[in-house]
Amino acid sequence: MKVAVIGTGYVGLPTGVGLAEIGHSVVCIDMDKCKIDALRKGEITIFENGLEELFRKNLNDGKIKFSNSMKEGVEDADIIIVAVGTPPHPVTKEADLKYIYAAVTEVADYLNKYTIIAIKSTVPVGTGDDIETIINNRNPKADFAVVSLPEFLREGLAVYDFFHPDRIIIGANTQRAKDKVKEMYSYFQDKTEILFVKRRSSETIKYASNSFLAVKIHYINEMADFCEKIGADISEVAKGMSLDTRIGAKFLNSGPGYGGSCFPKDTQAMAYMGKMNDINLSLIESAIKGNIARKKSMAKRILKSVVDIKDPKIAFLGLAFKSGTDDCRESPSIVILKELLDKNANIKITAFDPKAVENAKTLLGNVVLYADNIEEALKGADIMVIATEWEDFKKIDLEKAKISMRNRRILDLRNILDEQKAVQLGFEYKRIGK
Ligand code: NAD
Repeated sequence: MKVAVIGTGYVGLPTGVGLAEIGHSVVCIDMDKCKIDALRKGEITIFENGLEELFRKNLNDGKIKFSNSMKEGVEDADIIIVAVGTPPHPVTKEADLKYIYAAVTEVADYLNKYTIIAIKSTVPVGTGDDIETIINNRNPKADFAVVSLPEFLREGLAVYDFFHPDRIIIGANTQRAKDKVKEMYSYFQDKTEILFVKRRSSETIKYASNSFLAVKIHYINEMADFCEKIGADISEVAKGMSLDTRIGAKFLNSGPGYGGSCFPKDTQAMAYMGKMNDINLSLIESAIKGNIARKKSMAKRILKSVVDIKDPKIAFLGLAFKSGTDDCRESPSIVILKELLDKNANIKITAFDPKAVENAKTLLGNVVLYADNIEEALKGADIMVIATEWEDFKKIDLEKAKISMRNRRILDLRNILDEQKAVQLGFEYKRIGK
């Protein structure tokens, strides 16, 4: 099938590449000229495990193309997937749909045969209806269906998740639309649960899922605080909980709070929809509040750990909101670093991340120093703070660190280091939930 993907970000690019790999003819469109120029030249614009080689292969085979022109991209398409951003409105925190509306308004002009407009962006319930109205008003002759196709990929595992999704949700209100989308996903027949639901249910599934996961993280973080007070250990508690199959082991890692481009904004958008519909979503509201407070409390912990040192030097390891990605949007690290500098202007921070330094620089500027590697960050530091759960950090050579650091202190906000070894080497080791 001929598929157009609008938006070549963390969702659009892996989606376009994946669809090309399973045999479709794909055109990816973005209004960002720099991104399209780079992608056309074979230069990848985001870091995602395994994406680069798959992208190059399909580009070289001519199965995926990139364009700035909406006309060129969508005119021939059987299915147009919309994967543009839906950031939070700065004041109300509802999902801001300006990119979605701009994209579909432009698309409407080029619809010349039956076409599916599949919304992969996370959008408030009812947006599919609004898009239908926009296109009908703009181009009354257009023959089309708007389908909700929520995305559940995990950044860092986007390629794996494309080929091994837990489920594919298709929110379509007509049989004709269902059949078309089913055809696009025929590769997944017999491999994955494909669930057809009403469009509004599909839009709700995305928010309900992300909000649930955010609440689960918030819950385990609250339990970690409780463990610290009561003399229990959250690692043991989480392990014990996880053996209950009703609870499961995933999303039971306590840490510095959830971040990224999805959970913070989607919980806020869900809470807004609750308010607008007079529904009490107190669990979600509590998670939002607790998660904001948690990041601040992490900064407090760091400052407390070096309170006895004049002009302390911090080696801050991890800037991405999680491992496996270069994405720093709403990363706890960014919030914590800003808070640290706000509370103590004399603090010296050297930060390092295996993939996310460039993105962090755009959010933080030069308020911290950026190291090229772990060793450089640790040199002369009073404390090592682990903020992202990168594999590289799990393997830190503590014997070397012991020699190059000025003081032997570790604050492990991800509970990934070998506590026993650190203590044996003379480190003062603190972690979450113990
Ligand atoms: P992103 O910011 O990485 O990418 C969006 C892209 O859309 C940008 O490259 C931008 O230039 C482009 N764009 C915006 N308006 C456009 C227009 N009118 N025409 C052409 N291009 C346009 O965003 P993302 O992280 O890929 O997220 C996209 C959507 O998917 C959001 O709604 C998000 O909530 C949802 N989502 C994201 C993830 C994730 O892990 N990032 C997971 C599931 C769902």
